[in-house]
Amino acid sequence: MAGGYYLALDIGGTKTSAALFTREGEIAGDVVLVVKSETFRGEEVVYQNIKTLLEDLMRRQGVASDTILGIGVGSPGPLDTKRGLIIHAPLMKWRNFPIIEHLTADFRFPALLDNDGNLGALAEQHRGVARGLRNIIYMTVSTGCGGGILINGELYRGANGGAGEVGHMSIDPGGIECPCGSRGCFELYASGTALLNNMKTDMAAGKRSAVFDLAGNDAEKLSGRYLDEAAARGDAYALALYRKEGYYLGVGLANLFNLFDPEMIVLGGGITKGRRFFHKTMMETLKERSEQPIHDNSVRYSEMNDRVVLHGAFFLIREYIEKTPS
Ligand SMILES: [Zn+2]
Repeated sequence: MAGGYYLALDIGGTKTSAALFTREGEIAGDVVLVVKSETFRGEEVVYQNIKTLLEDLMRRQGVASDTILGIGVGSPGPLDTKRGLIIHAPLMKWRNFPIIEHLTADFRFPALLDNDGNLGALAEQHRGVARGLRNIIYMTVSTGCGGGILINGELYRGANGGAGEVGHMSIDPGGIECPCGSRGCFELYASGTALLNNMKTDMAAGKRSAVFDLAGNDAEKLSGRYLDEAAARGDAYALALYRKEGYYLGVGLANLFNLFDPEMIVLGGGITKGRRFFHKTMMETLKERSEQPIHDNSVRYSEMNDRVVLHGAFFLIREYIEKTPS
């Protein structure tokens, strides 16, 4: 077997991407292929899209499947990583989907699954802003809030593989009802979905803002992009909403610092694009509430953007293959 490559797959609610990695961890030819997940069409269609995507990638890169050492797969949770099941992905309407069984049956190379929070943590520790650190937390702030926790250099998965569900730590016991069954969950206040819901409610209540003008007063057109645009123009409503975002992020981060005393928490996900509008409030709130010393590098932002899960998936499978005696 000459050389040997790894595949990485990032299954998302709207799009799925894949890349071929060299053993050293570079994306071959800097090529990342992306397809629509088409989750609304059911799990068989989603899986066929994945299979075609991987076949296209290998064809385009000119590699045969017997030169692939393994594939790492990232997916939103909850997952059963030991059995390779996507237990339940609300966006995808999947129930106990045996993704790993499907992949190994079709491609005949080893496959491993983990959630995007854990993979983000691995990626940041190996080649990101937390490179070389041994106690870090990665938190993604997008549609929801996911997390991954590294303790003493190892991923902390918990007793059932469910650790790192930072989005569902409650920050208000009597707060908003969460689909998870709890109340006041962090992601109901700090995620992109929360920002969007706030904007929709405020627009319906007749508040004035450039955000609403930019969206043509159409609730369906409200977006993070318009919020950024309005904030950049100095719109008072947009800036206040971002301060609120910073406040809730600070509260959540303080809980995590108090519990885990990490060297760094790395933030990723779409909402971090608006960091210049929330960073100050976030750090002030964090400092007020943390028992641990907080400095400028205590919280940093991922620089891998859309590729963080792919890089993490690569490190996951490479570590497994290198540790497994052949
Ligand atoms: Zn919840």
